[in-house]
Amino acid sequence: MLIDREKRQWTSWNGNISHHFNHLETPLREEELAAAIARSNSVRVIGNGQSSADICAGTATLVSGRKYNGPVSFDDTKGEVTVQAGMTLAELMELIESRGWALPSLPDIDSVTIGGALATGTHGTSGHLLSGYLRSMRIIGADGEIEEIGTGDPLFDAFRCSVGVLGAVSTATFSCVPLRRLALVEEPYRDDDWMASWPRWLEEHDFVRILWLPHTGFGYVILGDYRGEDPGFGSPEPRHHRYRRDVSRLLYRHTVGHPGFTPRANRILKKLFFSSRVHRYGTLYGATVTKSRNSTLELAEWSVGQPSFPALFEELKRSLNDGKNRAWAHIPMDVRFLKSDTTWLSCACGEPAVTVGCVTRHPGTADEYRAFDLVERLFLRHSGRPHWAKRYAARADVLRELWPKWDEFTALREKRDPAGKFLNGYLRDIFGVRG
Ligand SMILES: Cc1cc2nc3c(=O)[nH]c(=O)nc-3n(C[C@H](O)[C@H](O)[C@H](O)COP(=O)(O)OP(=O)(O)OC[C@H]3O[C@@H](n4cnc5c(N)ncnc54)[C@H](O)[C@@H]3O)c2cc1C
Repeated sequence: MLIDREKRQWTSWNGNISHHFNHLETPLREEELAAAIARSNSVRVIGNGQSSADICAGTATLVSGRKYNGPVSFDDTKGEVTVQAGMTLAELMELIESRGWALPSLPDIDSVTIGGALATGTHGTSGHLLSGYLRSMRIIGADGEIEEIGTGDPLFDAFRCSVGVLGAVSTATFSCVPLRRLALVEEPYRDDDWMASWPRWLEEHDFVRILWLPHTGFGYVILGDYRGEDPGFGSPEPRHHRYRRDVSRLLYRHTVGHPGFTPRANRILKKLFFSSRVHRYGTLYGATVTKSRNSTLELAEWSVGQPSFPALFEELKRSLNDGKNRAWAHIPMDVRFLKSDTTWLSCACGEPAVTVGCVTRHPGTADEYRAFDLVERLFLRHSGRPHWAKRYAARADVLRELWPKWDEFTALREKRDPAGKFLNGYLRDIFGVRG
């Protein structure tokens, strides 16, 4: 993310979204955060700007959480930690792992802020959204009033994931679990084999993630189990795997002018980087979360109820492989699994879900990347839901059919922020607000 104070310009991490602003506030304390919101007519709180959707800026005032990022308190008897919302996930993990604590499910990015991750329904696999591990939050409303809301409050499920339109998250309290170590095995499986096995794997393993490799006929399956000691089955990661991003970028550069080259690029990448059986042992954070993100991407992600996934996957695979669609997809397409929850705007609200990522390594030409449109069309046909932080074209009229609590959420938003101070143009379209 880039903030040019002189030009008063905010730009997202991959350069695809840019907005001007009038004021930039950088509060150090909760009262300052509340005051900044109260005195502005049009305001967004910004995290690290790593969202592909236009949800961060586009308001007269931006409030940065960069300096509002410290620990607030620990409750050792309950295993709870409270932090300010500008803290990054990396900082949170360092804090809790040093106390022997963990969170049960984590996204594959640690540079996100807690406020940004909660607002967008950020999630990992084999568990809940990050917000599913919240005990309570302090929220700043449109008038700058501060309130605490937690489990047991009937509206907590609206606040857990709100794209920042119900108020700014000031602090978040998480319930932690004891730190354990995962033994992970990664290896390629043919599509027919992993598709036949994932429901059983979800019952048998603590961690299940599949990096689907479109146009190759394979998925790279990562299965993990918590173990007291390293069982040592398999080889460590081959040294040349560290060049995966560089080689991907090089090959996919060629697909900008020649998208039909993508299947061949994928087969080369599969052979080089997704063919071995690799073993890892470490904490969930240490062994599964990517620590550096030096390449830029443009991302979409959709979820669908687990029972609908087999039919959807067949259609997706057939359509991506059909050259007539000219919708070839870069690898990997990340397939993850979520337990059902009650969070109103969660992608797993009401049913266990499968989430499927779609990525291009050339964000600057994302508009021409046809896989995004094709994936969106197919998921919508199966009542799939988009990830709030990622790229999608659907707007309020379509989105309201996808979440059972949509109308209640938009009514609550209207009640809490009738003047729409937390909305930019994009969010008005998403939530169907005129003006
Ligand atoms: C490489 C990459 C990998 C990713 N991996 C995953 C993944 O594994 N799983 C997943 O689910 N997502 C993933 N994401 C998406 C990512 O988690 C979200 O985009 C997240 O919101 C980014 O955090 P941020 O701090 O950059 O938030 P921003 O992009 O800055 O903000 C996101 C939204 O949150 C709002 N916001 C920020 N702080 C607050 C606050 N304190 N109160 C209220 N609203 C606030 C902003 O206004 C904005 O609407 C990934 C993204 C990238 C780029």
